[in-house]
Amino acid sequence: MEEDVCGEGVSHPVASLALGVDENMLDSLHPKTDASKSPSLEASRFAANDPASGALHSEVVIARNLTKVYNKHKAIDDIEFSVKRGETFGLLGPNGAGKSTTMRMIACRTPPTSGQLLVEGLDVRTQGREIRGLIGVVPQDNNLDPDLNVRRNLIVYASYYRIASKEAALRAAELLDFIGLGNRADAKIEHLSGGMKRRLMIARALLHNPRVLVLDEPTTGLDPQVRQEIWQKLEELRRVGGVTILLSTHYMEEAEKLCERLVVMDRGHILASGTPRDLVLSRVSRYALEVRDVGDLPLDTTRNGISAVARNNAHFYFAAEAEILTPLMKEYEGRRRMIRLSNLEDVFLQLVGDNEPESPSAA
Ligand code: ADP
Repeated sequence: MEEDVCGEGVSHPVASLALGVDENMLDSLHPKTDASKSPSLEASRFAANDPASGALHSEVVIARNLTKVYNKHKAIDDIEFSVKRGETFGLLGPNGAGKSTTMRMIACRTPPTSGQLLVEGLDVRTQGREIRGLIGVVPQDNNLDPDLNVRRNLIVYASYYRIASKEAALRAAELLDFIGLGNRADAKIEHLSGGMKRRLMIARALLHNPRVLVLDEPTTGLDPQVRQEIWQKLEELRRVGGVTILLSTHYMEEAEKLCERLVVMDRGHILASGTPRDLVLSRVSRYALEVRDVGDLPLDTTRNGISAVARNNAHFYFAAEAEILTPLMKEYEGRRRMIRLSNLEDVFLQLVGDNEPESPSAA
């Protein structure tokens, strides 16, 4: 495993990103980027697009024919995708899909075996140092320093980016406030909850004002409320701070809530890509009948206009109209069942089908 902490000194021309933003602006998920309500953030957004660093590419990450082989095993097999500036883009897939490997190649922690991978127009093979100065990385595991308190974790990390100590202290205070840890600055790492550690990891990744934030499974293992808090912060960063966000997840809800576009991955391949809504409409019919605890009841595959899938002791039926599904309800009298709108989880089910993940999910 390569080291996840950037040990090289990197400098970055971007001015300080003021992050004291109004919580009331978080009225809904997925509105257009709107920095106009916060002058300081608008200014910083343009700072983040600093002309001194050259013309900005509209595609922040471009992967073409990207392949990664570990000991003859193809962890990533000829994938293509691109991430547009200012969007939240997701890699969605079960364990073993190749999400972390892709993230680690983007973060210049492991080189591609073949194909092309550009971040901000720079080649991950030869320009890792420059790339690391432009992106913030939140790895899957919290690798905070247990010997340092919360504030010192940030200040010491800032020194890797050659941020002067006075500026680092200001930046740390600003980020701790943003991420809701302002009153825990002197706490030991061991006294933080899982959600607090995750938020501190995000703050740490933002120290050098990255234009792009790369997060590997940002909320895995956290309870739903904490997950929602982190989603809000990420959405705020994208919407108000203009940061491009690339995340991996195996939570459908996370992908559906946060990502404007995503790819569905399994075993090193991309199975589908698009907006969550387009994926749902193109891959499954609009309505789903879901029946839980089916035991050994047979799946009814005989009905016209209905597709049927069995998985995890549940039956799923899809149709263009809810009424088409109603007669099937009777077959499951006494079982837990409901007709609902189809969602990304259904798409995933169709795409990944009965292929069980390589190993049990960490969730
Ligand atoms: P995900 O993040 O979607 O769970 P990974 O990228 O971690 O998937 O793993 C993809 C595949 O690559 C898996 O088969 C995994 O066992 C393998 N793999 C990942 N990292 C390594 C490594 N350092 N050495 C060998 N095989 C690896």
